[in-house]
Amino acid sequence: MNPAEQVVLVGGGHAAAAFVNSVRRAGYTGRLTLIGDEPVLPYHRPPLSKKYLAEGLPVEQILIRAPAWYGEQQVQLRLGAHVGRIDRAAQRVELDGGERVAYDRLVLATGARPRRLPAAVGGELPGVLQMRHLADADALAPYLRAGQRLVVVGGGYIGLEAAAVAATQGLQVTLVEAAPRILQRVAAAPTADFFRALHGAHGVRLIEGVAPVRLWADGGRAAGVELADGRRLPADVVLVGIGVEPDVGLAAEAGLAVDNGIAVDAFGQTSDPAILAAGDCTSFVYRGRRVRLESVQNANEQGAVAAHTVAGQPKAYAPLPWFWSDQYDCKLQIAGLNLGHDDALLRPGQTERSRSVWYYQGETLLAVDAINDAAAYVSAKKLLELGRSVPKAAVRDPGASFKDWLG
Ligand SMILES: Cc1cc2nc3c(=O)[nH]c(=O)nc-3n(C[C@H](O)[C@H](O)[C@H](O)COP(=O)(O)OP(=O)(O)OC[C@H]3O[C@@H](n4cnc5c(N)ncnc54)[C@H](O)[C@@H]3O)c2cc1C
Repeated sequence: MNPAEQVVLVGGGHAAAAFVNSVRRAGYTGRLTLIGDEPVLPYHRPPLSKKYLAEGLPVEQILIRAPAWYGEQQVQLRLGAHVGRIDRAAQRVELDGGERVAYDRLVLATGARPRRLPAAVGGELPGVLQMRHLADADALAPYLRAGQRLVVVGGGYIGLEAAAVAATQGLQVTLVEAAPRILQRVAAAPTADFFRALHGAHGVRLIEGVAPVRLWADGGRAAGVELADGRRLPADVVLVGIGVEPDVGLAAEAGLAVDNGIAVDAFGQTSDPAILAAGDCTSFVYRGRRVRLESVQNANEQGAVAAHTVAGQPKAYAPLPWFWSDQYDCKLQIAGLNLGHDDALLRPGQTERSRSVWYYQGETLLAVDAINDAAAYVSAKKLLELGRSVPKAAVRDPGASFKDWLG
């Protein structure tokens, strides 16, 4: 390996941190520069809508690695620096401000950006917040006081988690979901039913199947959300959680193949052999379909895959996706990917608050949502790793043991 080689990483999140760790472990001894536009070391993003917000943790407690680690890994850190362009012909990136950094290999780990409500309907008003970056969580924190009125637009996991934190702190919380039900895109009805009831029990008002049409202002700030049915929801603060778009701007402008994310192969290679990509910004082929995942598991593992490619020890990415969500004192753990399911079976758990939802395509198990049910999650993960499916009748029977299939 040529020690004069220069690898440049764009992005400072989970995928970037995982890349640094794995590339050094795999023996890459060349130069390594990480350019990230947030003015902070890579941090765990999931706590932003969970413990960081709920407990006001200091940022040091959510850093992925301690500051000294980056020195030990001999990484040149360029934080608070935004890459504005890739010059593929010259093999260099251009920072805002004009500085150029040359690369032999470039790794794009740019993540995803939250979708915004259009400015024309008030989406850019002061008091309308998102939840993606540390700065977003810090912007919401001052509103987390009893009596404040929060309207959350969007009933996906992030909106629901933020609603849970706010309700726990005594805010009056209303969550509006335009689709017929919360978690429509990501989970089957029994999972959504559980979380609807949970939020209701904590005083959150959930409005499903009604679109927000505009935000109105008072004194230059968002003061509420008007719904398609004419209802008006006054708010001290509005949080928009309507999903993300992969951050593919740099890649698309540079002419790389983009298909619902920067298209990568199983080794993290883009359509340019000198450029790799990892994490939320990518799409890749999983069980015959091109998919894009938004999860820590995917960012960490794709970061490691790209690192092995760069270090000359390629390892194909063969993920078993997993994900989690914490709301109040409930834990949801998801194993597998339910994409393409045609059946979702509810399996009662050992307690009233535990249950699992088993997703099938035909007779093939695809994924499981386990709610307060670690045993179901562990079984599901093992089954999916082994490529085995439990017969549906056994899933429906709470007394049935899965040991015959797990052994
Ligand atoms: C509030 C919240 C809660 C979540 N909860 C969970 C959870 O419970 N479980 C789970 O598995 N996943 C969760 N996720 C998703 C998970 O955090 C993401 O999948 C993960 O962060 C993806 O990592 P990444 O490195 O691909 O991208 P990111 O973590 O988004 O990092 C990308 C970084 O690159 C920077 N960047 C982008 N473009 C440029 C540029 N041109 N120049 C310089 N820097 C640039 C961005 O600012 C950002 O810092 C959550 C996400 C959020 C926002």
